[in-house]
Amino acid sequence: MTRAFNFSAGPAALPAEVLQQAAEEMLDWHGAGMGVMEMSHRGREFMSILAQAQADLRELLAVPDNYRILFMQGGALAENAIIPMNLLGQRPDERRTADYVVTGAWSVKSQKEARRYCDVNIAASTEADKFTRLPAQAEWRLSKDPAYVHVCTNETIHGVEYFWTPDLAAAGLPDVPLVADVSSHILSRPLDVSRFGVIYGGAQKNIGPSGLTLVIVRDDLLDRSLPVCPTAFHWKTVAENDSMYNTPPTYAIYIAGLVFQWLKRRGGLAAMEAQNKAKAELLYGYLDNSGFYRTAVAKDCRSRMNVPFFLHDETLNDVFLAGARERGLLQLKGHKSVGGMRASIYNAMPLEGVTALVDYLREFERSHG
Ligand SMILES: *Cc1c(COP(=O)(O)O)cnc(C)c1O
Repeated sequence: MTRAFNFSAGPAALPAEVLQQAAEEMLDWHGAGMGVMEMSHRGREFMSILAQAQADLRELLAVPDNYRILFMQGGALAENAIIPMNLLGQRPDERRTADYVVTGAWSVKSQKEARRYCDVNIAASTEADKFTRLPAQAEWRLSKDPAYVHVCTNETIHGVEYFWTPDLAAAGLPDVPLVADVSSHILSRPLDVSRFGVIYGGAQKNIGPSGLTLVIVRDDLLDRSLPVCPTAFHWKTVAENDSMYNTPPTYAIYIAGLVFQWLKRRGGLAAMEAQNKAKAELLYGYLDNSGFYRTAVAKDCRSRMNVPFFLHDETLNDVFLAGARERGLLQLKGHKSVGGMRASIYNAMPLEGVTALVDYLREFERSHG
């Protein structure tokens, strides 16, 4: 068996150690006589898996005590509706406004979905710049009394990442919750959860398998829902039932739990940040110094997780991808809306994978440049 280096944006590569352990435990988890997929979610065994996963995540991210960790379903896209349904009901007699900062394909989708539930104010958008930069907070035009302000802190498709945290108190809105889609860079570095009201993400980028959605929400935001909010997506109900109001995605939670333990063994999020920085510097460093390839995103906000790049001669794209595949460098084709190539280098991508990619970039440049 050979495992290639998989640069998929998501569902993405998982650590080989985690998959190995899951394979060993597939038929019989810790002497239970059954695998995790086959267990009652209310049984002692699975309850211990869930509790351990929550505790490990709380430790890794240093989640404060007044925040709840919810394991949900529906992905980040369902959460785009679940968020307004949970946050717009505080003053049910009014139609509220929510503010969105639009910095790429995913925040475009978020604001579009929210329009079904509220008025949306686009506080800033970089669409005119083809989403190649981030708007500084000084550029934002926030509304007077938004129910919340939404950002996407890593745009997986356009490769734009925040390395600063918006400050709504400084904007004169100290009581307005900041909501962030962190799907594609959560756990890649430490994050100060206390600066946010809600963070959320699908698991399939940097946490575990698809099917699990992580929501971390501050206590005081649990009970602001609109009456139409489905019970299974009502954060307060989910929190009161410890993510077990209905059957949770048990196997995905188990694998995510193994990933959390893997991260702890590797030294936690500070160690992951150092490794992710080294990987990104290696790749961007090569691309910056080459006249054969180019990148489009401004240097101060280019993502350490998703690296879109282009060949100057785009007629070579298919040859480039075929050669990459032959060398075991998989899923490098860029998203269709951006074109070119994209290398996603999440936590599970080792430095050797990025080194192998840079070696191939160099070799391809030499033979086709
Ligand atoms: C992948 C992704 C999504 C979509 O997630 P689903 O789980 O498919 O709903 C949303 N936002 C970001 C930033 C993503 O990377």
